[in-house]
Amino acid sequence: TPIIVLIGRTNVGKSTIFNCLTKSRNALVANHPGVTRDRQYGYCKSEDLNRKIILIDTAGLDIKSNEIEKKAYEQTLIAIQESHLILFIVDARDGLMPQEFEISKKIRQYEKKTILIINKIDGINNTFNINEFYSLGFNKIHKVSASHNQGINTLIIKYFIPWINLEFKKEKKTILNYQYSEIKKLETKIAFIGRPNVGKSTLINSILKEERMITCNTPGTTLDSVSTPIKYNNNNYILIDTAGASRKNKNLSIIEKFSIIKTLQSIEKSNVILLMIDACNKICSQDLLLSDFILKSGKGIVIVINKWDRLNYSEKKQFKETIKNKLKFLFFSRIHFISALYQKGIFQLFKSIHEAHEDSKKTISTSILTKTMHMAIKKHQPPIIKGRRIKLKYAHLGSSHPPKIIIHGNQVTYLSSPYKRYLINFFYNSLQIKGTPIKIQFKDNI
Ligand code: GDP
Repeated sequence: TPIIVLIGRTNVGKSTIFNCLTKSRNALVANHPGVTRDRQYGYCKSEDLNRKIILIDTAGLDIKSNEIEKKAYEQTLIAIQESHLILFIVDARDGLMPQEFEISKKIRQYEKKTILIINKIDGINNTFNINEFYSLGFNKIHKVSASHNQGINTLIIKYFIPWINLEFKKEKKTILNYQYSEIKKLETKIAFIGRPNVGKSTLINSILKEERMITCNTPGTTLDSVSTPIKYNNNNYILIDTAGASRKNKNLSIIEKFSIIKTLQSIEKSNVILLMIDACNKICSQDLLLSDFILKSGKGIVIVINKWDRLNYSEKKQFKETIKNKLKFLFFSRIHFISALYQKGIFQLFKSIHEAHEDSKKTISTSILTKTMHMAIKKHQPPIIKGRRIKLKYAHLGSSHPPKIIIHGNQVTYLSSPYKRYLINFFYNSLQIKGTPIKIQFKDNI
């Protein structure tokens, strides 16, 4: 998956550009409370794109004065290192700033394709400021006004698409082959996702130690060394080990161990994600950020609370409450409380993993979906707009992985978010979908 990273000083408009490219303001599910906005991951969305691009908005690359900023800076450098394309954002109103020479120098060390994005060009009436930026020496320069959504689509058409066609064609082919073999073998690919020390490698090792698990050695597959195929209950699984979590490298710092991009790539490669959370720690913004991204990825999800052995009765009760509150937006998924170290609760996981994968590729007939929709309407009518009740006519499945339900009707653009949420919850419940997000799209029949 192509990865693009946004770099620049604070306040140049990185987040606004990120929002334009990911259309995150229009998203049905966005802005869950507690999700930090200092770093964001998202998918680039555009009708002109025919494949996924991951975007990473980084903390500003400013002069770092304290420990926290130093850490953020380090993370940004890692993001640059692991990305494929850099968008270096500057501000037309401020003009060229001295730090931007430093940032350019830093970026050049990585020898990555870079586009200089001059933002805030609206209302600039002399070109003096803009011309200054040419001295940074980048040959790909593009001007935008993110707050007015100007120049964003041209950025995608003029730069992103040719770049992808040029550099990712080969990968596309291997992905296709891979998908083909995947259909034949029907494996479930499981990604273990979570913060460092949550117990990812302990869990993988525990699974591999189990006698009921058959580890397979399939030579000549396209899998890399960190993916282990296993068989359990006659189903095939592949354990995807993010960033070589199980190959302990004592010399790596926590920051190096937790590679955002490898995490994102593991998510892309998988069908089902085990979102691992440490029962001994507070749920932090990083957990929420990962959860949010996992939800957006549309992959199957199973929530795993690890180190359950270390909590006493009342702590367990309290943690369950916290989880319910903080991970509200993943309400549909199964939660398991396990101990990877003492091998407790591991087999039960596989039932949910299997279910999540099955649900994500489910086919549901138009008649069932339409019937379900009418049941929902009967219980709770859509609102009346301009004297006429919004009419929902029929529903059908648009695609799967994750299931996307398309509802046709009249004046559907006026449906309120609470009503949309009501409908989506109704579908989750009556279709008994667990472990996969479902999406709903409304189409107006004029
Ligand atoms: P990773 O960074 O996510 O791969 O985490 P590790 O698997 O290396 O685990 C980090 C630490 O947590 C190690 O010291 C493990 O022994 C410990 N650990 C992992 N799972 C459990 C568990 O279920 N219970 C307890 N008590 N400790 C655990």
